[in-house]
Amino acid sequence: MASGPVRLFDTHTHLDFSQFDRDREELLAELREQGIAAVNVGLDLDASRASLRLAEGHPHVLAACGFHPHEAKAFSPQAQEALEELLRRGAVAVGEIGLDYYRNLSPREAQLSAFRAQLQLAKKLDLPVILHYREAGEDFFRVLREEGPLRGVWHAFSGDAALARRALELGLHLGIGGPLTYRKNEPLRQAVTLVPLDRLLIETDAPFLPPEPFRGKRNDPLKLRLVALKLAELLGIPLEELAEATFENACRLFGVRPGF
Ligand SMILES: [Zn+2]
Repeated sequence: MASGPVRLFDTHTHLDFSQFDRDREELLAELREQGIAAVNVGLDLDASRASLRLAEGHPHVLAACGFHPHEAKAFSPQAQEALEELLRRGAVAVGEIGLDYYRNLSPREAQLSAFRAQLQLAKKLDLPVILHYREAGEDFFRVLREEGPLRGVWHAFSGDAALARRALELGLHLGIGGPLTYRKNEPLRQAVTLVPLDRLLIETDAPFLPPEPFRGKRNDPLKLRLVALKLAELLGIPLEELAEATFENACRLFGVRPGF
């Protein structure tokens, strides 16, 4: 099997973060050269605007706009209107949105109502969603059932086989990142082998969640190859096949074809 460069699609990045201020343009040029496309994901209105700006200047970067559950306390009717306007400017997804009962940086009631409102917005605009879930239990599934059916990706999926099955039943894709390489995540490594190839996506969540052996360092989409290699190994398929399948899955879900 040829070992030349393969195209990869990183479905979750935060390249607007200050961690990239030093070398953002060099990094973006390198990604383009290496055939790595990326979705830059918004956390609030400012970050959503930054996502759109990054996408405007770079054909291999796509923008998602949304309010992260941590920022849900700032979600208001005016914020929703502003978000809709941003989404209509070429965003490929509503995200990231969801529930986080681990850190609880916004009250749960605020998280629930922002989540619901943004799921409805995604439906109205016919956009997929990028979902954040942390220790939110049945609330997450209940809201998705009630507001569904939806297209989308469960970002940074790190559950076991039972949770993967529930995600698949909801019609979701699973976004697999650096945690796949962490020693403690054996249940995740077993779970991914049960997921149909057409429901898998790969992501870095850069600058967070670097794969082994880069833990503790800044993550960036050049390290996505390590996630792809690990996933291909677990599925028993060549890297090229995994790369091609996940790239096409991302193009289908987001309705785009990135340029290089
Ligand atoms: Zn994120």
